[in-house]
Amino acid sequence: MVVESPAQERPAPSLFDIAVEQFNIAADVVGLDDDMRRMLSVCKRELTVNFPVEMDDGTVQVFTGYRVQHSIAPGPSKGGIRYHPDVTLDEVKALAMWMTWKCAVVGLPYGGAKGGVRVNPKVLSQNELQNLTRRYTTEISVLIGPHSDIPAPDVNTNPQVMAWMLDTYSMHRGGVAIPAVVTGKPLLLGGSAGRLEATGRGCTIAIQEACKAYGITLPGARVVVQGFGNAGSTVAILLHQLGCRVVGVSDSRGGIYNPQGLDIPAVLEHKRQTKSVVGFPEADQVTNQELLELDCDILIPAALEEQITEANAPRIKARLIAEAANGPTTPDADRILNDRGVIVVPDIYANAGGVTVSYFEWVQGLQAFTWTEQEVHERLQRLMSEAFAAIHAVSEQYRVSLRTAALVRAILRVAEFTRVRGIYP
Ligand code: NAD
Repeated sequence: MVVESPAQERPAPSLFDIAVEQFNIAADVVGLDDDMRRMLSVCKRELTVNFPVEMDDGTVQVFTGYRVQHSIAPGPSKGGIRYHPDVTLDEVKALAMWMTWKCAVVGLPYGGAKGGVRVNPKVLSQNELQNLTRRYTTEISVLIGPHSDIPAPDVNTNPQVMAWMLDTYSMHRGGVAIPAVVTGKPLLLGGSAGRLEATGRGCTIAIQEACKAYGITLPGARVVVQGFGNAGSTVAILLHQLGCRVVGVSDSRGGIYNPQGLDIPAVLEHKRQTKSVVGFPEADQVTNQELLELDCDILIPAALEEQITEANAPRIKARLIAEAANGPTTPDADRILNDRGVIVVPDIYANAGGVTVSYFEWVQGLQAFTWTEQEVHERLQRLMSEAFAAIHAVSEQYRVSLRTAALVRAILRVAEFTRVRGIYP
C-alpha cells in the first residue's frame, strides 16, 4: 500500500492548496516529472472582472466575477458558473483544476475551467439577475466561445441563466443563436434531454458501480444526502427508486431525519412549496453537522466544499461516501477515512455525469441534431461504467484510494496531451 503522506502542522490550506495537494499525491504515485508538475499545478488563465449593474431602484452596484481556465491542452475548456456571496478567485481556480481532471477521468475532449460571481442571487429580482448575467457574460467574452471555453450551470445558476449567456454572446455576433457556447440551456434553445438530472444520475451510476465492486447491497441501504438542490435531490429520488432507504436530507436551512426512510417524492413536494426540506412533517430536525454523522451506509455530500474535515471524519458512520459536490472532503479527512476503511467515490468521477451530458449537448449543438433521452442515458451509463472500471483497476494496480486512482488516470491523460503538443514556441 502506498502511504499517502501524513498531515503536517500548517495554516488552514486554501481550496486551491487542497487541489494542488491532491494533484501532488497522485503525481508522486506515477513519478510525474518536475516540468510537467509545474505546468499542470497552475491555472493557465485567470480573469477577474469588476463590473457595474443598474439595480431596479436606479442605484448602481459593482460586482466581482471570475473566469479561470486551468488547462486547454486536451481541447476547449469546460466548466460551470457559480453565483454565491463567498466566491473567490482561489475557489474558482480549484474548481477549474478539478474540471480538467474530471473531463479527463471520463475521457472527454476538454480542458477545465470555472467561473463565478460574488453575489447573493436570492436577493436580486429577475431583471437584476438578467442584467448581471448579461454584463458578466460580456466581460468574460474574451475567453468564452463554442470552440474555446464553454460555461454551464453550477451552484445558483440554471438553464435560464444559460439562455441569457447564450443570447448575450450571440447578440455580439449578429444575433443568430450560437447554441454550443453554453450547455445546460433550456431544451428549446438546444439543451439536451437528460442534462438537468445528469449530475445526480451519473452519481447514482457511480454509487451502483462502487457498491458492486465493494460488495454493498443497494436495495435497503440507508442513505443520507447533504444538499437538496439539482444534484442532491436527483440522487435522492433515483436511489429511493432503486429501493434505498433515504433516511436524511438537508439544505442550507438545516436537515431532516427519519430512520424508517423519508418519502422522497413528498419531501420534494414540501421543498417545492416551502423552498426548504426543513419542517417536513414526518421527520426529526437535525443540523447539517449532525446530518453528516448520522448512522447510514451511504453518505452523499451534494452541497458545497470542505464539509467533511478532520474534525468530523472520525465520527462519520457511512461505509461509502459519494461526492456529488466538488471538494467536500479535505485531504486530512481523506486520510482519516482511508485509514478507517471508508470508501470515498471522488468528486472528479462521482459528479462527472453533469459535464458528460454537457459534452453530449455540445456535440448535438455543433451538429444541429438532437438525441433522445434514452440515447443520452445509455451513453452516460456506458461512459460512467467504463470510467469506474478504469479507476478501480488503477486503484488496485497502485494500491491507492479511488481519489488518487482517478487523479492518476486524469493526470496521465492530460500530461500526455501536454507532452505531445509540446511547448510553443
Ligand atoms: P444547487 O444550488 O442546485 O443546490 C445546492 C444545495 O445545497 C441547495 O439545496 C442548498 O440549499 C444546499 N446547501 C447550500 N449550503 C448548504 C450547507 N451549508 N449545508 C447543506 N446544504 C447546503 O447546486 P447543485 O448544482 O446541486 O450543486 C451542488 C454541488 O454539486 C456543488 O458542489 C456543485 O459544484 C456540484 N456539481 C454540480 C453539477 C451540476 O451539474 N449542477 C455538476 C457537478 C458538480
